Amino acid sequence: MTNKVYPVSDKWAENALLDAGTYEEKYRRSIDDPDAFWREEAQRIDWIKPFTEVKDTSFDQADFRINWFSDGTLNLSANCLDRHLAARGDQPAIYWEPDNPADEARTLTYRDLYEETCRFANALKANGVKKGDRVTIYLPMVPEAAVAMLACARIGAVHSVIFAGFSPEALGNRIEDCDSDIVITADEGKRGGKTIPLKANVDEALDHHAHVSRVIMLRHTGADVPMKQGRDIDWAEAVNNQPAECEPEEMNAEDPLFILYTSGSTGKPKGVLHTTGGYAVWTSMTHQYSFDYRAGDVYWCAADIGWITGHSYIVYGPFANGATNVMFEGVPNYPDFSRFWQIVDKYKVSTLYTAPTALRALMREGDQWLESTSRASLRVLGSVGEPINPEAWEWYYHKVGNGQCPIADTWWQTETGGHMITPLPGAHALKPGSASKPMFGVKLQIRDAEGTVLEGACEGGLVITDSWPGQMRGIYGDADRFFDTYFSAFKGTYFTSDGCRRDEDGYYWITGRMDDVINVSGHRMGTAEVESALVLHEHVSEAAVVAMPHEVKGQGIYCYVTTIAGVEGDDTLRKELIKLVRHEIGPIASPEVIQFAPALPKTRSGKIMRRILRKIAENDTSSLGDTSTLADPEVVDQLIAGRPDV
Ligand code: ATP
Ligand code: MG
Repeated sequence: MTNKVYPVSDKWAENALLDAGTYEEKYRRSIDDPDAFWREEAQRIDWIKPFTEVKDTSFDQADFRINWFSDGTLNLSANCLDRHLAARGDQPAIYWEPDNPADEARTLTYRDLYEETCRFANALKANGVKKGDRVTIYLPMVPEAAVAMLACARIGAVHSVIFAGFSPEALGNRIEDCDSDIVITADEGKRGGKTIPLKANVDEALDHHAHVSRVIMLRHTGADVPMKQGRDIDWAEAVNNQPAECEPEEMNAEDPLFILYTSGSTGKPKGVLHTTGGYAVWTSMTHQYSFDYRAGDVYWCAADIGWITGHSYIVYGPFANGATNVMFEGVPNYPDFSRFWQIVDKYKVSTLYTAPTALRALMREGDQWLESTSRASLRVLGSVGEPINPEAWEWYYHKVGNGQCPIADTWWQTETGGHMITPLPGAHALKPGSASKPMFGVKLQIRDAEGTVLEGACEGGLVITDSWPGQMRGIYGDADRFFDTYFSAFKGTYFTSDGCRRDEDGYYWITGRMDDVINVSGHRMGTAEVESALVLHEHVSEAAVVAMPHEVKGQGIYCYVTTIAGVEGDDTLRKELIKLVRHEIGPIASPEVIQFAPALPKTRSGKIMRRILRKIAENDTSSLGDTSTLADPEVVDQLIAGRPDV
């Protein structure tokens, strides 16, 4: 795909937190002597009762178990707040940037965040929430979302954060699944100048889930919304008169911290369960190393708090490290396509962590949107969520980062709790599109379909052969499904379901989900590869590729392509794209169909819902399955209507 290598610059080599040698040495030790390695790394967390045992894990069915630091106790909210008060009580913990730049921004210091969290924790208790209870959080990107999560962690309640963009149906199903009887919400959310009727959605969801006895509602936009007597109360009223101190609950390292439903791009949502101690160590460590985080950095993760990136890298990792976080309510293209860069300059952001989908959307609008900003404060860039195509990577690197900032292309999953494969700034030469090297303690293997372990440069399914502290501990309420889903494909290992290539330098390249492999006349190819070729064309903004049934070849390649602003997809472009793919990959990858689409169906976290694209490609649109997690369901109708007759 690309052979470009960007060596570590002299400046980075001299100043990096971890240089190449340190990475190698630390990685070795983490594999050879995990006990000693993790005993040391775990000291970044304040334990109430220190653990004696580090790791007690097995991926074998007979004695399957995952326990880390299991006789230690701690409170993660205290690690994120209390311990910072002495040294950084007055330091901003959150710079909150509203959707509309004309509205007032907010700054919360660590002391503010501590007090708000304690008040809300007391309010939860006053409303009957006890240790172990599940609390559903359905809030927009406002500081109170972090407050609510930290308040749960403080009292030992298990939070389940639901994207503020999810429909009442999706919300209701998730409330039901974890049997939660309290919901925290707001009157409305705001995104890109539009309002989202959160409270109305909750009301509708609860029509069918009557066991919820309490709704605490934050007044955010001030909209006039109906309140149900006896069930609903105002956030302000709930915290009124609550003391700004709340003793943190002593939690066992293996006590549940949260449930998070995966985005659902592949089917029925799973309630991924994470516990406390290992997750704390993992998120704090990866936040520090992956981003070369230093005290005083202004750090901005532009993800939504409703997905794992927000949990691990807006809340727990950065706050455990005492970071100053930018929290942004809005979207990259509102009021215009320079918003991200305006925010970077406004807060002097040193680290920006975002997703390829956002980058592609901005890139397609042209470089003029970067021109009025300098972005000179940026030091490290991060990418997450999908393979980043080299085209977008180069743009991010050269244009956004002015060629100065290493890109941490972080591969990980809701299930892994934090980063698993990523280049470390200053330690690794960068290869555009490669997630590069394993994080400490991560033991990778690539296997073929028969389960044979492949060596050297190879391509196959990515598995992880040993436990790491941030690993999920179960699927809420379904122990069997946990083992079956992840540990049954290849005995004794965790199967990621992602395809991966390892090159001659030992760099890892995620090729996409294994269910995205297309088999054309016996040749297997990853959809990401075809997509990367398509987006090389200057008129293409985004592409999604799926398999379609083909009488002769078994499967054919069906491409959905969105063009950049001002360009219409036509037959000329179609021919150019076919030629481009044949040139980049080979004639075997010649697309069968290219459908120009105004937009692609995406989940709230910005991931393309390939399941739906496959159905349309197969011309089987009678059963599209659960579409409630789509950001914009109308896109699907447009795609069905625009399907070429093939
Ligand atoms: P579901 O499991 O419900 O289908 P999901 O897999 O989209 O949802 P996440 O856990 O948020 O939910 O996403 C993890 C997946 O995202 C990975 O398995 C991988 O396919 C993809 N991914 C994340 N980061 C990267 C990256 N840096 N490079 C390549 N792929 C990535
Ligand atoms: Mg997944």
